[in-house]
Amino acid sequence: MARVTAASELNIAGVTPFSTVDWPDMLTATVFLQGCPWNCFYCHNPALIDPRAEGAYSWSDVLDLLCDRIGLLDGVVFSGGEPTLQRALLPAMDIVRSLGFRVGLHTGGAYPGLLAQALPHVDWVGLDIKALPGGYDAVTGRPHSAENAWRSLELVLGNRLLRAGSDRPLDLEVRTTVHPAAIDDSGLRELGCRLADAGVDCWAVQRFRETGARSPLPRIEPMDAEASALTLADLPTDRFASLVVR
Ligand code: SF4
Repeated sequence: MARVTAASELNIAGVTPFSTVDWPDMLTATVFLQGCPWNCFYCHNPALIDPRAEGAYSWSDVLDLLCDRIGLLDGVVFSGGEPTLQRALLPAMDIVRSLGFRVGLHTGGAYPGLLAQALPHVDWVGLDIKALPGGYDAVTGRPHSAENAWRSLELVLGNRLLRAGSDRPLDLEVRTTVHPAAIDDSGLRELGCRLADAGVDCWAVQRFRETGARSPLPRIEPMDAEASALTLADLPTDRFASLVVR
């Protein structure tokens, strides 16, 4: 018989009790799950990569915090690390919904199989699409990452289509971190067109920030690290209902 995974098995690295930035236009608590199968050179939270590192919070700590905030928060965001690394994400999302919160998910799409199971529990996805497929592995430091990320995008868009017009639509923001060693300006324009062709209508282009990242950054030469002069005018703004540069 298949073993049932409980929410109490979540390995939780951190919790932000109130956040206005983790889900656009929502006041959330954000739960950061430990572990990620990738090793992006620009990772802003490398301490969360090691899946064996012991978490700092228990699920009951999170529940206590959430129960104190019923009626004060719009939703709960599961972030990471890579939240879909942990099967206990699914029962945790169920519990969060049963408390009356909406559910948000930050993911890089590393595990399309578990993402497909999570999507029915989710109201909003912030999905990182880091690069064009040919440049993906250089960013993540892991083979076959492009297939999983782009397959995850297909899954989210398919689920969003299924739920369009229902009383529980799925919202999506695709996010791309811009570092010149990850994607250049023409690659970013091409990526924008591919996302729009796929059906993405909300794209956030995020400038790389050094805060939290390793120094020096692994796997790139210092000469690769010149800042992009990117502006919104360089991007295919007419292809998106919402395109922001952060
Ligand atoms: S997917 Fe996110 S958490 Fe994982 S290594 Fe990349 S930036 Fe860090």
